[in-house]
Amino acid sequence: DVVRKIAAGEVVTGCFSVVKELVENSIDAGASLVEIEIRSGGKEYIMVRDNGSGMTNQEAKLAIKPHTTSKISSIEDLDSLITFGFRGEALSTIASVSRMRLSTAADSEELGTILEIAGGSVTGQKPLSGSNGTFVEVFDLLYNTPARRKFLKSASIEGRMVTEMIQRFILAFENVDFVYSRDSQTVFDTRGAGSLQDRIALIYPGISTRDLIPVSGDSGEIKVNGYVTLPSRTRKNRMGENIFVNRRYVRQFELNYALERGYGETLQKGNFPFAVLFIDIDPQEVDVNIHPQKLEVKFASTAAVLDEVKRAVRSAIKGAGH
Ligand code: ADP
Ligand code: MG
Repeated sequence: DVVRKIAAGEVVTGCFSVVKELVENSIDAGASLVEIEIRSGGKEYIMVRDNGSGMTNQEAKLAIKPHTTSKISSIEDLDSLITFGFRGEALSTIASVSRMRLSTAADSEELGTILEIAGGSVTGQKPLSGSNGTFVEVFDLLYNTPARRKFLKSASIEGRMVTEMIQRFILAFENVDFVYSRDSQTVFDTRGAGSLQDRIALIYPGISTRDLIPVSGDSGEIKVNGYVTLPSRTRKNRMGENIFVNRRYVRQFELNYALERGYGETLQKGNFPFAVLFIDIDPQEVDVNIHPQKLEVKFASTAAVLDEVKRAVRSAIKGAGH
């Protein structure tokens, strides 16, 4: 129990981290639609529903036990991992510090399963009829660790962090639709916004698709794709620089600098571009696990990555006549 609660400190750093883990699981499960709802910033209620593969009754029970993952079967898998999860502790940890309802159905079974869990223990079980997918509801996060619950921020800050998280998923997974609501208000509904441009416009109403320049670089090993804004459409901070490595959002200043250096002289001091950049690289060439919140990654050859980012951005800016 103590170990569980310590692990909770790593997995549950705020409502946003719970949402992040649940949405990652939905994406890993092959969902094409993920619905997210939070109340009071997630402190009262978090739900993530997907139309992915679902779990059998046995899988569902296993999933809420510590250190079980279906995503790795050998140590070699660690090197070529492209799914998000592999520690096999997110769901069980969240379950141990909340009241959770896990409803899930898989193709291979006629009936699905509803598990009611409180503080990690199953308190009820019912069959579920319905289509494939998984529906996780988290009530009263950290209710059984009151000292830790106090560290949750206000509902508005927690909610804002969740919203930022969802924005990144919307940008990074064009093939997945997201419907996100906060206190019963729909914040984002990507259905019908299939292209990255559409999604940028959906999230940033202030950015016109006319201001977006496509970036595409391919050095063979390293691919850099996405959009940047014209040098005349810059901002005063780096918040608009969205950089993803293998579809994971990163905040890693060397990458931001490489992006900015791509603008060369056209970027004035104190100005920063808006960008959505995807760096895609062989998973064996990148270690995503050096940071607990996984906001930084480690490349086998950093210089080559930075060069390719700069080069791709430079050629996009030049192509746009600057
Ligand atoms: P990990 O993602 O690291 O494997 P988790 O604790 O997040 O660990 O999930 C445990 C297991 O539960 C997963 O390996 C997967 O088999 C199953 N699972 C969790 N969420 C879902 C989901 N939304 N759809 C299908 N299976 C899921
Ligand atoms: Mg996971």
